Amino acid sequence: MNASLVLGRSRRKTVLFDDNKPRNAVTSESHGFMTRDGIDPQELKRIAQEELRKYPSVAIEKQRVESVNKADGLFRIEAEDGSVFFAQKVILATGFKDKLPDVEKVEEYYGKSLFSCPFCDGWELQDRPLAVISENPKAMHLAKVVSNWTDDLIVCTNGKQILSNADKTLLESKGIKVYEQAIRSLVGEDGQLKKIEFEDGSAVPREGGFITPEWVQATTIGSSLGCRLNVQGGIETDAMGRTSIEGVFAAGDTLIAGASQLVIAAAEGSKAAIGVNAALIEAKFKTPVSASN
Ligand SMILES: Cc1cc2nc3c(=O)[nH]c(=O)nc-3n(C[C@H](O)[C@H](O)[C@H](O)COP(=O)(O)OP(=O)(O)OC[C@H]3O[C@@H](n4cnc5c(N)ncnc54)[C@H](O)[C@@H]3O)c2cc1C
Repeated sequence: MNASLVLGRSRRKTVLFDDNKPRNAVTSESHGFMTRDGIDPQELKRIAQEELRKYPSVAIEKQRVESVNKADGLFRIEAEDGSVFFAQKVILATGFKDKLPDVEKVEEYYGKSLFSCPFCDGWELQDRPLAVISENPKAMHLAKVVSNWTDDLIVCTNGKQILSNADKTLLESKGIKVYEQAIRSLVGEDGQLKKIEFEDGSAVPREGGFITPEWVQATTIGSSLGCRLNVQGGIETDAMGRTSIEGVFAAGDTLIAGASQLVIAAAEGSKAAIGVNAALIEAKFKTPVSASN
């Protein structure tokens, strides 16, 4: 949306495709975006799309793009309803999906009392009894970060041996107990966690926490175009949002390049749009036109 805003203000003919399945659909509050701290993400989207209406060169297509192919120097974009669009440049801002840990009912709590980013949702959970629930080695880093918001923290590895003895000793020296037994169930109401029950019959009261989902690209469009991916599976870009494929730019979560937040996605969208403008301007001034033409 921010890329479309910058492109609209640059008088570029732009189509924004969005089938409205953002990653944060599971949550009702978004934090840390200045002037909009705590806003419902769908309201943020509504305001952003409303602002785009001011710019006549921007159209919004509320539907899925099925495929993007390069054809005769242009990109052929086929939408869900069968309509076809041609574009000189493409910005991929398709995001990623969270693959949640294999814990019963975890999806009922994700976005309500279990989150993945302490910088987004740590403030609301501060000083409460929390858990880091993780089946991968990211648990250690996340536990260190979450300890900034509470002194009552445990780590649950759901039966996986993901922490070294040195890590466990370090965590326990900071008062962070490690539970390595398998989780039987999460217990609570309306998405608010109350306790974690383990397969061995024990349980521990908890009011929320953080998990380390795996990140999976929301679409295969980037890889089908041949865009180079980083080790996490994110689309690689340079400082102007350019991917390894000429004419294809990318922004936001789809880069899987560290912190993922709305304000960062918006900033990257702006950069990619400036990158698109730079490429179009360069192309315009590439060939000198003689005075007689
Ligand atoms: C539980 C939770 C809480 C969060 N809390 C915060 C918070 O408090 N603050 C914060 O800054 N961030 C928060 N985030 C992170 C934030 O949601 C992401 O960083 C942000 O949504 C990334 O924006 P994006 O535009 O890159 O991707 P997305 O928001 O995922 O948007 C991608 C869009 O592209 C569309 N799309 C994908 N493929 C296609 C296609 N083929 N055709 C058409 N449309 C397509 C999708 O439907 C979607 O609307 C949270 C995330 C989660 C999961």
